[in-house]
Amino acid sequence: MKFSKVLIANRGEIAVRLIRACARLGLRSVAVYSDADVDALHVQLADEAVNIGPPEARASYLDGDKIIDAARLTGAEAIHPGYGFLAENAGFASRCVEAGLVFVGPSPDAIATMGDKIEAKRIAIGAGVECVPGYHGDDQSDEGLLREAEKIGMPLLIKASAGGGGRGMRRVDELNTVVENLSLARQEAQAAFGDPKLLLERYVESPRHIEVQIMADQHGNVRHLFERDCSVQRNYQKIIEEAPAPSLPSELRQQILESAVKLAVTIGYDSVGTIEFIVDAATGHAFFLEMNTRLQVEHPVTEMITGIDLVEWQLRIAGGDVLSLAQDDIVCKGWAMEARVAAENSAENYRAQTGTITSYAEPSMEGLRIDSGVQQGSRVTPYYDSLLAKVIAMSVDRETTIQKLDAGLSRFRIAGVGVNTRYLRDVLHLDDFQAGRHLTSCLREGFPDGWSSSPITNTDVAVAALAYHLEREGSGSQSPWSTLGGWRVGERSGRRGAAVYYIRTGDQTFGETTVIGRGGTFTIERDGKAVLQVREATWRAGRLTYTEQTLRQSIDVSVDGVHVTCHCAAGDPVFDVLSSKNVSLGEIVKPVATGNSVIAPTPGLIAEVMVSNGDTVEIGQPVFVMEAMKLFQQLCAPIGGVVEAINAQPGDTVNGGDRLAVIASADPQDEDQGFPND
Ligand code: ADP
Ligand code: ADP
Ligand code: MG
Repeated sequence: MKFSKVLIANRGEIAVRLIRACARLGLRSVAVYSDADVDALHVQLADEAVNIGPPEARASYLDGDKIIDAARLTGAEAIHPGYGFLAENAGFASRCVEAGLVFVGPSPDAIATMGDKIEAKRIAIGAGVECVPGYHGDDQSDEGLLREAEKIGMPLLIKASAGGGGRGMRRVDELNTVVENLSLARQEAQAAFGDPKLLLERYVESPRHIEVQIMADQHGNVRHLFERDCSVQRNYQKIIEEAPAPSLPSELRQQILESAVKLAVTIGYDSVGTIEFIVDAATGHAFFLEMNTRLQVEHPVTEMITGIDLVEWQLRIAGGDVLSLAQDDIVCKGWAMEARVAAENSAENYRAQTGTITSYAEPSMEGLRIDSGVQQGSRVTPYYDSLLAKVIAMSVDRETTIQKLDAGLSRFRIAGVGVNTRYLRDVLHLDDFQAGRHLTSCLREGFPDGWSSSPITNTDVAVAALAYHLEREGSGSQSPWSTLGGWRVGERSGRRGAAVYYIRTGDQTFGETTVIGRGGTFTIERDGKAVLQVREATWRAGRLTYTEQTLRQSIDVSVDGVHVTCHCAAGDPVFDVLSSKNVSLGEIVKPVATGNSVIAPTPGLIAEVMVSNGDTVEIGQPVFVMEAMKLFQQLCAPIGGVVEAINAQPGDTVNGGDRLAVIASADPQDEDQGFPND
């Protein structure tokens, strides 16, 4: 290889995966990190690490100059961009080359042409590969695009030409909303990719997402590594991916694989890459969508079925090696499936979560691979993607692979930050998915009103209270307190040996929960009624074991200060358990009043302020555009009136609950009641 030290220009699970690959190949690795990632796992694992500035990606992970400087400083000879960030930035790739560095990816030309969806379509058509009917011309005016939209018909998709990761994409069902959506899509495109250019596509009615993994070298060898099905999507973002694609007629598979190879040959591609197709399941027609000129999030499923390490080859090819595998050497040896584990509250509209991971344990099973960017103590901040880890399962057939992935997800313990593992498991159990006949609409149809976990039961609350209690007072039957029969922590209840706790999770509060311990048995009451009676309760290393009547049960519970994560059917809720000693009920149940204020619903970034001080606004009028994780949303005026204060400017990072603007109502009835405890 031409290099011995590689700078990894990324973070999270992909940086970790790349650093580990370098170590295996005997290459030294250099991590870069922002101020928000000082303690991140990728920084700890790399041989060297360079701070590249503030948390905002724009000022750190997206700042090509800082990254090239970091390579110079450390003597790295190659830069691997991972995915996202600078991975498809042709300008950055050229600057690497100019600086004498190896860019671990294709030539800057390939990135420039294929990174632009409009350009890519022109090339595909030239190569005889069919594209989705639509408009990919130069006229970017509202009037021009509206005219084209009329021609294409509804529904249609507006896409950012430079887009990726499902951003800057909007489905439009009615002609009269085209212009408004063009404007939001442009903003997203500009903010996320620095390029407002849009294209229009007919919305394919029964869409399946099928993509082909390509590997090519600098000597003209091009191979495919079969296809992946990534039809399980939310907001055009992949959630679960698998290889091979289920229920795909072999002729269609062959046609897609051949089209992909043809396209890669046409452009003289020379790295790993992915060619995406959308397949109309109703007609069996495949259309070219786009090419991703980089490693993809879901590359592990291909590695699992072929036994080929894509990153290793990507590095070797970048170093000039010949791709020595013949097409026939690449065989599919089973079925693999990946689920993306993200920090989110799936039950609350999949809201991204931030916080500190207080306990963390990966499942370990034959045929199960975990690619993770976090560990116990990792901080999940609002600045980056919410992806924490990927669980990838492989087995001989689809059915057992699903079972293994389900088992893996059920044994993945992450506490302190909400994660989507329960949701992912429910997705695996959707009928259409199980049958392998799912379309990209499967999540919308499977969870039409959003996803909700099983409701929290009295037992869950009781278990949380008991675990917290044992953590505080000593461990179950070993505790002298319980065998002596009582202590006096719960003065409030006025009973010997009883402790009173106030418990809440999210916006749910559960009133008084009392734990009464006597002679090794515990009774847990809610509002005076016994909900759980146990004996032989043992609390050890995050596991509560107890006997209820004749049934002995074990449940994983983690306690971190007042936060108790209960791994129950209700989706790993995190309970806040507060004792009567230090907190009064009034402080716990703080109402979230909006009144006359515009409140940030989540942490995020203010993209645009749409009004000025003194403006008159109507109820429901958009006041801010906020970017939270990957999506833009409008925050609207809760009442009509005059804008009295604006507390956030474009570019500001805000916390969930921040009061962003205040509106003085014309109608005194509307006046903000304020926070009663403020
Ligand atoms: P695609 O949907 O084009 O196949 P992937 O699913 O491979 O893309 O996801 C990669 C995209 O998702 C990137 O382009 C980036 O926008 C975003 N992304 C996902 N995870 C991360 C991350 N850890 N850091 C930065 N960007 C990320
Ligand atoms: P990105 O660069 O954000 O990955 P893509 O063009 O790959 O953008 O589209 C992302 C997803 O959006 C696809 O996987 C598919 O589910 C959906 N999609 C894209 N184009 C169409 C279309 N014309 N009709 C229906 N769905 C589409
Ligand atoms: Mg795509």
